[in-house]
Amino acid sequence: NTNPVTVMGLGLMGSTLARAFLDAGHPTTVWNRSAAKAESLVASGATRAESAAGAFAASPLVVICLSVNQNVHDVLEGAGNAVAGRTVVNLTNGTPAQARELATAVTALGGEYVDGGIMAVPPMIAQPGALILYSGRETAFETHQATLEVLAEARYLGTDPGLAPLYDLALLTAMYGMLTGYYQATALIRTEGVKAAEFTPMVHAWVTAMMAGLPRAAEAIDSGEHATEVSSLANNQAAFPNLIEAAREQGVDTSLMEPVRALLDRSVAEGYGDDGLPRLTDLLSARP
Ligand code: NDP
Repeated sequence: NTNPVTVMGLGLMGSTLARAFLDAGHPTTVWNRSAAKAESLVASGATRAESAAGAFAASPLVVICLSVNQNVHDVLEGAGNAVAGRTVVNLTNGTPAQARELATAVTALGGEYVDGGIMAVPPMIAQPGALILYSGRETAFETHQATLEVLAEARYLGTDPGLAPLYDLALLTAMYGMLTGYYQATALIRTEGVKAAEFTPMVHAWVTAMMAGLPRAAEAIDSGEHATEVSSLANNQAAFPNLIEAAREQGVDTSLMEPVRALLDRSVAEGYGDDGLPRLTDLLSARP
């Protein structure tokens, strides 16, 4: 299709989104707080909106990608009545509560709100494997789905606008756990002069092998059946201090590791020592 689209926010991600729409042949209007960032897109055929109101007026579909959701509130305030009749797809990272507040604000202005979580970095946009999660006004999503598919696979999660950010933040939570583990591991290994490039294939293979156990972990979490023939919390609790002691001996920061030790200690103290690691989801489900 050649439906027109507006992109507001031309940072690293927003400019990539705008270029993807342009490359796919969509008449694309762009707006950015500092106007200079629009120049290369305008040179490629995009139309520059002179104001936030102009950006909303230009297209039925307005994709917003700013740093934080407070910026989105400010932009909506600046646009006022121009939001009426528009579908606002907000791809700015934020919390479920923020998304619900923005949905209320957009609805009050006469627009339709869809929130989105981008599960990709800019080079992945418009490439196979990129995923964007959406939630909010279903009919608005369906109307614009084909256009949004230009950016990435578009997966709709439900009418609650908080769902896309909830999934997004949950996936990012898993990512940060993995990545900080990797950075901690490389800090430890290089104390003996091992290059990250040399060590990384081993990490990759190891973590990939461990990830193969996730479906079984999910079964335990969902069923509450935590008996294990693989590895008990008590054994993990007994061994985990070695990770911290070795890091200390090698002069490496241990502040990321201490909370994991505390969690394992708590699991045993609360009587779950014979259970498998997936029991930790239950312990984390309520603050102690
Ligand atoms: P950038 O820092 O590159 O861009 C930030 C954008 O927000 C710029 O357009 C900036 O405008 C605008 N902005 C900041 N403050 C204001 C304000 N007060 N009023 C109006 N506009 C404002 O960030 P990214 O493009 O990387 O990220 C944008 C969003 O996308 C974030 O929420 C991020 O979490 C999310 N995201 C980014 C990914 C990535 O890999 N980059 C991956 C997935 C999600 P100006 O140019 O005038 O400063």
